[in-house]
Amino acid sequence: MITEVQHSSRLELSQSALKHNLDFLRRTIGEHPVISVVVKANAYGHGVEQFVPMAEKCGIRHFAVASTGESHQVLSSLTADSRVMIMSILHDSDIPWVIEHGIEFYVFSLRRIKLAAEIASKLGIPARIHLEVETGGNRTGIEQAKLKEALAVIHRERKHLHLIGFCTHLAGAESLAAKFRIDKQVQMFERLRKPLMNRNNPPLFHMASSAASLIRPECRLDMVRTGTVVYGLYPSPDVYNSMLLNARKPEDVRLRRVISWKTNVMQVRQVDRDEFVGYGTSYQAPRDSMIAVIPTGYGNGYPREMSNRGTVLIRGRRAPIVGVVNMNMCFADVTHIPDVDFGDEVVLVGRQKKNEITIRSFSDFSSALNTEFLSRLPADIPRQVVK
Ligand SMILES: *Cc1c(COP(=O)(O)O)cnc(C)c1O
Repeated sequence: MITEVQHSSRLELSQSALKHNLDFLRRTIGEHPVISVVVKANAYGHGVEQFVPMAEKCGIRHFAVASTGESHQVLSSLTADSRVMIMSILHDSDIPWVIEHGIEFYVFSLRRIKLAAEIASKLGIPARIHLEVETGGNRTGIEQAKLKEALAVIHRERKHLHLIGFCTHLAGAESLAAKFRIDKQVQMFERLRKPLMNRNNPPLFHMASSAASLIRPECRLDMVRTGTVVYGLYPSPDVYNSMLLNARKPEDVRLRRVISWKTNVMQVRQVDRDEFVGYGTSYQAPRDSMIAVIPTGYGNGYPREMSNRGTVLIRGRRAPIVGVVNMNMCFADVTHIPDVDFGDEVVLVGRQKKNEITIRSFSDFSSALNTEFLSRLPADIPRQVVK
């Protein structure tokens, strides 16, 4: 009987790295704003089931997701009394479930507001809503022409609709080139929220994701919705450089990667000079070579863009990916590394001895964002929490 099977690779999640990043974020934004950790896309590939309890261990009590399905995953993973918020798709048929489970959700249309009130009234449980307003991003968000009416309906239905938040989303605060656009959005949001500010029980105002939380103090308000920085990545070189400029020393703004990705050598083979490796003719050995076969391909989340470009670590040294990345394997040239053997650890992302493969290096070789690569890591790779 098989009691335990091995997957072709494994992910490690560092609790101390996560704590470091959250401490850094808290120091940067100050004590007031609630930190809502964004765990959409399976916690940016880290794995909701493992990651949510890790964040709760660090004191986080608010999580943001993109869909009802994701909110369900988070609910099942909670180990504390945390709140969950849906920022994007919520089908009408899911609204009763969402209200019954006390999940907070964005509303950005009159239709959705009225429907939520109706369902909440039937259930006898108030809906916990965040009203998202349009400020120039032109994604979701209620148009300004309809804002007055929306607020009137919410006020009228206040027994059934609890206005928890009032928010917007910035259209690329990580790029200084878009500064003029973000400035306009910030000014507009300030104007729109004015009438709500002097209420007895004002909603939480929020607009900042990682980039704005770090470099735009005026955007921190009552809550920040942060993903990227929490996982130990800077949203862009612009944000990193802005932080560096204001730091006393570079160590003060260093983030720590939470995730590492490892596998093991499946086979080592000798390849004669002028032989091709793997499919097609994209790699021809320039000399007699030793090639390590690695059991991860694009079907396992290792991007095909890494063909003849990527690097892995074996025995503490860098080994270039040669040939095309297959669906379930790839190849590394280890001619320069003595004694590579079956079973040797291969680091796809992370550290081995003095070398490191960063997540950023994946976006250097493709149009993919660092968060894009992460969000595509298959859910079935085992995730292990380490110190
Ligand atoms: C994804 C997302 C965030 C988090 O963005 P990061 O740059 O990863 O911090 C915040 N708000 C909304 C609405 C999002 O969709």
